[in-house]
Amino acid sequence: NRQVILVSRPPQQGWLSEENFRLVETPLPEPGEGELLVRNHWLSLDPYMRGRMNEARSYAPPQSLGEVMLGGTAGEVIVSQHPGFRPGDKVVGRLGWQEYALSDGSGLRRVDDAGIPLSASLGVLGMPGVTAWIGLFDICRTQPGETVVVTAAAGAVGSVVGQLAKLHGCRVVGIAGGAEKCRYVVETLGFDDCIDYRMGADEFWPALKAATPARIDCLFENVGGEVFDILLGRMNAFSRIALCGMISQYNSAPYPIRNLSSILVNRIRMQGFIVTELQERWPAALAELTRHFAAGRIKYRETVVDGLAQAPAALIGLLRGENFGKQLVRLI
Ligand code: NDP
Repeated sequence: NRQVILVSRPPQQGWLSEENFRLVETPLPEPGEGELLVRNHWLSLDPYMRGRMNEARSYAPPQSLGEVMLGGTAGEVIVSQHPGFRPGDKVVGRLGWQEYALSDGSGLRRVDDAGIPLSASLGVLGMPGVTAWIGLFDICRTQPGETVVVTAAAGAVGSVVGQLAKLHGCRVVGIAGGAEKCRYVVETLGFDDCIDYRMGADEFWPALKAATPARIDCLFENVGGEVFDILLGRMNAFSRIALCGMISQYNSAPYPIRNLSSILVNRIRMQGFIVTELQERWPAALAELTRHFAAGRIKYRETVVDGLAQAPAALIGLLRGENFGKQLVRLI
């Protein structure tokens, strides 16, 4: 059983490296009474993993050194001594960076993969999709006709935010890195517009004004930093900000926000949220996402690397924006 463990921590405000991880081989565990053995087919790589590599206080405890890296997985039950699971069951859980894992069933969700690729349960029909749904409808309380702006628009969360907002009757503008991602966001995902933030601050502001003639009612913020600061200056009175992520700062020092007074002047409600703490909203979110997905109304894209050995480099790539859509590792 191959596993990736965390062996050292990156600098608090600097970049992680592949040396922080080690690939190890351990004997295949055997399930005892009440346990099951899962063969993980897919490992999800997510930006939050960078935060867990730090020792600093956060909403969740840090990942321990010398232990298997935490992470979301999708796989198949191969041996079960647990009354609730049978061999062949497809399960999504948080079984970490390893090919096989023992589980007592807690936190494991059985998924029906008939007609639905198993990997989608880690993306559009999983944690990122639910994050999009909760941020848009519970946190932003978006209404039809409003203007929604979402950053990291081509990514796992952002791509679902924009498509849900379009289905809800909103004007949707994405922000993404590069012409190719922007083209995809508009032409394939159906956003009304997309702005490439790499064009530079001088050109960004006129492009933003042109794309948001009625300003911004809901900002779904995934990135933070300078672009977020500029977006703050384009918010409407009584607008809302769902503060979902600040990926531009996960490997660097915090960015000093200048437009904070916009929150006061525009009476903006800004709220951070952590999707895993909002379990009571998952069933409603997944039901609606699955309905849209089955009807072909939600598109998605994946960036896949093969083999656990590639996972550290792929996580670094994700934090650099090299992924296009949901970043996954195909295990076995
Ligand atoms: P994505 O698939 O969106 O991948 C990350 C993307 O972030 C990259 O592709 C890149 O896109 C963008 N990015 C990276 N660095 C920068 C930078 N310096 N400036 C601007 N953009 C950057 O990841 P997810 O969809 O999984 O996550 C998106 C955000 O949502 C993250 O901030 C994550 O932490 C947050 N999140 C929060 C949750 C919660 O419960 N609050 C749950 C899940 C995710 P580009 O090339 O366009 O820059």
